[in-house]
Amino acid sequence: MDISVVVPLYNEVESLPELTSWIAKVMAANSFTYEIILVDDGSNDGSWEMIHKLSEGNRFIKGIRFRRNYGKSAALNTGFGKAEGNVVITMDADLQDSPDEIPELYRRITEEKYDLISGWKAKRHDPLSKTIPTKLFNGVTRRMSGIHNLHDFNCGLKAYRKAVIKNIEVYGEMHRYIPVLAKWAGFTKIGEQVVEHFPRKYGTTKFGLSRFINGFLDLLSIFFVGKFAKRPMHFFGSLGVLSFLVGFIAIIWIISDKLYNIAHHQVYRDATEQPLFYISLVAIIVGFQLFLTGFVSELVSRNGTDRNKYQVDEVI
Ligand code: UDP
Ligand code: MG
Repeated sequence: MDISVVVPLYNEVESLPELTSWIAKVMAANSFTYEIILVDDGSNDGSWEMIHKLSEGNRFIKGIRFRRNYGKSAALNTGFGKAEGNVVITMDADLQDSPDEIPELYRRITEEKYDLISGWKAKRHDPLSKTIPTKLFNGVTRRMSGIHNLHDFNCGLKAYRKAVIKNIEVYGEMHRYIPVLAKWAGFTKIGEQVVEHFPRKYGTTKFGLSRFINGFLDLLSIFFVGKFAKRPMHFFGSLGVLSFLVGFIAIIWIISDKLYNIAHHQVYRDATEQPLFYISLVAIIVGFQLFLTGFVSELVSRNGTDRNKYQVDEVI
């Protein structure tokens, strides 16, 4: 099979007929073999009944239904598990992304050998309250992830080589960072394609302002997990030792300074009269805590089932 189109959807009943027939038209025009995997993320507006009806008219349409709403990441991850196409395309169900982009995305994955092509909504049709924080957001993500050539990490329209989606796990709200997850998994040929973006035709957006706070926290976790999950002691331990040493040296200095002044009959200050003394105490305690945290994290990560799961590319 050439292409799997994975569509996460939550209460998008009005859009579905148009979306699926548009995808089917594009596929037929390019004579691709394909499947459309509609993942119903616990909709309660009759989306599932609609999927049922559509799948009767087109045998390439497959549906998965969650019993409740788990979120876009969960829907994508489940769709990825089922996908069989050599190239996997994800798109939103709300008709903001255009299926007409599919042939070019497919070509770049198969011919130019990209692992991942991310859409870039260069000209967006969203309110300012969304586009400005998004700019900031993409800037920070670019910096932290080292993927300098992407402008728009969270575009719903993306294309992947099959191996990519079979080897990453999208959980929580990590759908915003799939390129970063892919990079951590060793898929580094990541490209971008300017795509058309339409205003939402039916229904309303499913994410509020909380997306920015959650998104930022997720960025921190993803960075930490990607870098230190398998060796937490290197993170906590080094910070802890540093903090401990700074405090310890300062206290030694305070004490020897006092002893020196006493021995030479000079005026001296008690340790407890110096702010530095208290700062040092805090540094020692914090350092010790960090060290212990590192120790406990190390035990936790040793217990993880994927502690020895690596990305093996080829074996001869
Ligand atoms: N979505 C989902 N589960 C959710 C929220 C959203 O599957 O809990 C789907 C939604 O139906 C749409 C896509 O994710 O197909 C993008 O959502 P939306 O268009 O609301 O996001 P926006 O375009 O505002 O970023
Ligand atoms: Mg949308």
